Amino acid sequence: MPSPTNPPPGCKFQTRCPVAIDRCRIEEPKLETAGEEHKIACHRWEEPAD
Ligand code: SF4
Repeated sequence: MPSPTNPPPGCKFQTRCPVAIDRCRIEEPKLETAGEEHKIACHRWEEPAD
């Protein structure tokens, strides 16, 4: 679990996300609109689930 006062670079979940990719470790995902009432910040949210 990363420290909230010293989060890792890139996505804050990258050390515990099972589908993290190299991009997640260097680039923080931007908050995007997903549907009419939702926001999401993930580089992979539009990829189909396996
Ligand atoms: S951006 Fe998405 S896929 Fe990447 S580490 Fe964060 S939650 Fe996981």
